[in-house]
Amino acid sequence: MVEHPFPDPRGPRMLLDDFHTLSGFGATPGGGVDRQAATVPDGQQRAWLHGWLSDHGFDVRYDAVGNQFGLATLVPGAPYVLTGSHLDSQPLGGRYDGAYGVLASAHAAHRVVEHWAATGESPRYNLAVVNWFNEEGSRFKPSMMGSAVFTGKLPLDTALATTDRAGTPVEGALREIGTIGDYPGPDVAAYAEIHIEQGRELENSGATIGIVDSTWAARKYRIVVHGEQSHTGSTAMADRHDALYGAALVIVALRELAAQHGLHTSVSELDVEPNSPVVVAREVRLHADLRAPDEAALDAAAKQLTGTIAGLGERASVTIDQVLTHSWGVAPFPPAGVELARRAADTLGLPYRTMPTLAGHDSVHLKDIAPAIMLFVPSVEGISHNEREFTQDADVSAGADLLTEVLTRLTAGELQS
Ligand SMILES: [Zn+2]
Repeated sequence: MVEHPFPDPRGPRMLLDDFHTLSGFGATPGGGVDRQAATVPDGQQRAWLHGWLSDHGFDVRYDAVGNQFGLATLVPGAPYVLTGSHLDSQPLGGRYDGAYGVLASAHAAHRVVEHWAATGESPRYNLAVVNWFNEEGSRFKPSMMGSAVFTGKLPLDTALATTDRAGTPVEGALREIGTIGDYPGPDVAAYAEIHIEQGRELENSGATIGIVDSTWAARKYRIVVHGEQSHTGSTAMADRHDALYGAALVIVALRELAAQHGLHTSVSELDVEPNSPVVVAREVRLHADLRAPDEAALDAAAKQLTGTIAGLGERASVTIDQVLTHSWGVAPFPPAGVELARRAADTLGLPYRTMPTLAGHDSVHLKDIAPAIMLFVPSVEGISHNEREFTQDADVSAGADLLTEVLTRLTAGELQS
């Protein structure tokens, strides 16, 4: 591997040490983290990042949906190259998902600022680090909320009024942790994000870097099964309107759709009312998630699901409502950004693969308002949204080196020239 032209002066240990510190916020006994959006541990890690960015010369600002920015103004008045990911996690999530990308962005951005200062040259663009609010969507739906508001895809008022299961709205939760402001956000010249792959393709191929060239399509539904509450012992089977039985049929149908249409499907959340041992359930609310590399296959599956659900309602003597709550299509990342990332990986001698992203990321929104580059580093055994999520230290460092090279090129205006 070629030496990086301007290595981190404090060596790769600094990123790993900071990552170790960051992984302490919301740490779980199983080696993961639990820091859902705008919870106490999320507030703690945001405060820590605020301190890190300030100590390294970045000006820290918050927008109205709690996105956290660290600005390095190199060319007053110029737009910003933005780089980041998200610090929030799933319940009992892994240490690397999102957090690696934010920290690698902070370190890489700092190295790039020092590089420009050392050369005495002036870049074309400024540089900013971002920690997007609520990428995971576990406490507040939808996922990728902060970047959706930033890119104009979700109204701010809708996001702020969204409540968690306990009825706490986003706005109140953000005020509680003190990370909400009125900064309108920077003008974005380009966006770069690095993330763990969360799959096995890099590990299987032996590549160190994934350069994302497209995204799978996704559809998410809220499905509500309405039954009638009754006694589990005394109610005749023929008289039952068991919402949980109806929900079970829906869960099986979704799993079977995956095999038929080549999709990834899940029922990933279930609320049962009243969820009591001697009571037939009166209502069950499900969250269903369908993903595919091909929109036509997703359309066909969605159509089939709607038809199947009508029949299942009849079979279980319940009614079933299905509402589409969030979706995105198959979309390419800009080819010029893929090419720039390839050149950067070649410069560093890093083996890479171009590949799609199966998961949603904030970059999926950002690519619609600015040229965006999405990079992956390998996930051991593809494990993610799990406390055992792991990426080798060497890959952590290689990814940050590549992001540094990419940001240098982006701030120089290579994508626009
Ligand atoms: Zn993530």
